[in-house]
Amino acid sequence: MENGLRKPSETTGQVISCKAAITWGPGEPFVIEEVKVDPPQKMEVRIKILFTSICHTDLSAWQGENEAQRAYPRILGHEASGIVESVGEGVMDIKKGDHVVPIFNGECGDCPYCKCEKTNMCERAGVNPFMTVMVNDGKSRFSCKEGKPIFHFLNTSTFCEYTVVESACVVKIDPDASLKTMTLLSCGVSTGVGAAWNIANVKAGSTVAIFGLGAVGLAVAEGARARGATKIIGVDINPNKFIKGRAMGITDTINPRDFEKPVHECIREMTGGGVDYSFECAGISEVLREAFLSTHEGWGLTVILGIHTSPKMLPLHPMELFTGRVIIATVFGGFKGKTQLPNFAKECMQGVVNLEEFITHELPFEKINEAFQLLIDGKSVRCLLHL
Ligand code: NAD
Ligand code: ZN
Repeated sequence: MENGLRKPSETTGQVISCKAAITWGPGEPFVIEEVKVDPPQKMEVRIKILFTSICHTDLSAWQGENEAQRAYPRILGHEASGIVESVGEGVMDIKKGDHVVPIFNGECGDCPYCKCEKTNMCERAGVNPFMTVMVNDGKSRFSCKEGKPIFHFLNTSTFCEYTVVESACVVKIDPDASLKTMTLLSCGVSTGVGAAWNIANVKAGSTVAIFGLGAVGLAVAEGARARGATKIIGVDINPNKFIKGRAMGITDTINPRDFEKPVHECIREMTGGGVDYSFECAGISEVLREAFLSTHEGWGLTVILGIHTSPKMLPLHPMELFTGRVIIATVFGGFKGKTQLPNFAKECMQGVVNLEEFITHELPFEKINEAFQLLIDGKSVRCLLHL
């Protein structure tokens, strides 16, 4: 054993038996079971997961919020870090022993989207919540002891000691970086910081409102602070989030439950007409409308980061856009994962973003149900599970 990794020679090309946290039905407690993980096939990578955390998207999937996306048994989890155990045929840029972060929104590098600077979508490996199998052969690489296949989740399935992913969904990280904190780059922090930098392009001296202060919203705050925004208003119905928020760039806080008037009116009064940028990080339609209305007429920009249940339409009338307010959404903060994340990781190592602050709890993998409860209860920002 080396770094918790079995000697590669012992496992390369072999089926690995290991522990996974399996979801058997919507909201049913995770069951830690032994599973079989097949070797990586063409253009795939098998990773020994060392750390995984829990994002609200895992919570929504576990609860089966979007019925059409339900599939069981399934291995959820998409925010993680680990070490490459082996690679499949044709993988050139990743080798065994590499320190890596899996990304749910991959970058194949070859498709029209990957070749276009305007988007971080990817035809082959972009995020697809309906995808439950590998793109190569339409099959799963996971099975129960009795042989029943277990479905994949968001290209990553990190609630397992070993996982198989498309090489387009693997980002190599500087081996000097702490894998513990790099876990956050796998989803929440990249999404939030990227929304501030790549999508809104927040300017120094500007005003910002962030709705929902989980890891994603707090990452927006970190990103806006790093860009020199002077007023960063944090909106949350859980006042406990304000303590963390103030340590991470939030300058003003609003609990909507403390006011009779709508939040956007408070924000417009505080900012002389509205903020330059607002970010919706809760995945709630009414919150999105408040975020939209809290920006300044003429130039205000609202960025949607929250995942909204289906069926849902934008909570605004088309004519409301004639006020000059703009609305846009982002997956993974607009980062092209493979090409841009290594550099973002370096910036984090230099302290541009304080990653440590996001990890509020750490637990052994076996306590995954407890970790989910911490997120449900609004107690954790990110709970890091040690595999
Ligand atoms: P989280 O659960 O940690 O945080 C959500 C926060 O919203 C909580 O602090 C909660 O108290 C707050 N909230 C709930 N109702 C509210 C309301 N009415 N007004 C204001 N705040 C309210 O979640 P997270 O992991 O930070 O994720 C946030 C959202 O972003 C989720 O919808 C998640 O699915 C989504 N997400 C999107 C992407 C992407 O690529 N776009 C990536 C990751 C997560
Ligand atoms: Zn996520």
